[in-house]
Amino acid sequence: MERVYNFSAGPAVLPLPVLERVKDELTDWHGCGMSVMEASHRSKEFISVAERAEVDLRRLLDIPESYRVLFLQGGATTQFGAVPFNLAGPGDRADYVVTGSWSKKALAEGRRFLRAEVAADAAASRYTSIPDPSGWQLGSDSAYLHYTPNETIGGVEFHFVPEAGDVPLVADMSSTILSRPLDVRRFGVIYAGAQKNIGPAGLTVVIVRDDLVGRARDGTPQMMDYLPQAEAGSMLNTPATFAWYVAGLVFQWALEEGGMQAMGERNRRKAEALYAAIDTSDFYANPVAVDCRSWMNVPFTLADPSLDGAFLEEAKREGLTNLKGHRSVGGMRASLYNAMPQDGVDALVAFMREFERRRG
Ligand code: PMP
Repeated sequence: MERVYNFSAGPAVLPLPVLERVKDELTDWHGCGMSVMEASHRSKEFISVAERAEVDLRRLLDIPESYRVLFLQGGATTQFGAVPFNLAGPGDRADYVVTGSWSKKALAEGRRFLRAEVAADAAASRYTSIPDPSGWQLGSDSAYLHYTPNETIGGVEFHFVPEAGDVPLVADMSSTILSRPLDVRRFGVIYAGAQKNIGPAGLTVVIVRDDLVGRARDGTPQMMDYLPQAEAGSMLNTPATFAWYVAGLVFQWALEEGGMQAMGERNRRKAEALYAAIDTSDFYANPVAVDCRSWMNVPFTLADPSLDGAFLEEAKREGLTNLKGHRSVGGMRASLYNAMPQDGVDALVAFMREFERRRG
């Protein structure tokens, strides 16, 4: 069978050259006579792969020396709790900007561990826009300001970095990291589940400014504490070796493809092509305000929802898969991560036009 164009929101499409490399070295990795999955995380070979992955990620995102890069487990969801444990005491205040499902989840978890306040909430626009930062309620004594640069479900993306003054800015970048150039210096903590632009599920990347490491409150589980993890090179216990290795190959691929500048331009072009197809048709619609439409996750609806099933069925027959929208919003969603080629987007647009012509 041919490879499909996989529009899944995550776990998501990976670059074909990476998958082929994994296949080539699966049973005999680096001449070890075994796969990377069978190798000790303490072996010289694995340590060199792990270190190279960090070096390449630092190059890709131009991460300054004053930041630690951690390769953890537990997903972004574990970081919803790890952030308050590392950055604040139980009675401290932190501010959360709520722009959709994932920021709501981060807020709810934050509330369990500190005084989490809503700095702004996009409920009035039904989470289709970003509240104007001039109206955000920010505490000058807040331990951090948390936001979600890209809402994977709602398709709302910040095309700017909010100003947080001296308050550390914390970002859940799960579905936007590596999609474009990023000024890491603006952030206190960046975290991301790997299963979109980084690699396989099971790995979580945390980029944390030095001064925020070593401040965890008493009672923080050591696996969640950034300091012992940083000191142990993210090997306090057995790390997700296979996912880490694949992530390293993805970083090499991204560098070979031209790095973040090239990736950003490509992603902008892909997103523009799909939004243009949606906007020039009366049959498809995207509810998100134009200035905060996601480059990575594009939700859209059909004028007649009774055709949703046929759309998905016929798309799948054309090799266009995983277009079903999240169960909480319905409709469709096309995720256009780095490994989705322009050809995939062009094929989707052609299919949409043809479907509209026949059924619209
Ligand atoms: N935040 C965002 C923005 C996400 O898209 C997701 C997963 N889709 C999560 C958090 C949760 O990530 P994980 O499953 O790695 O815990």
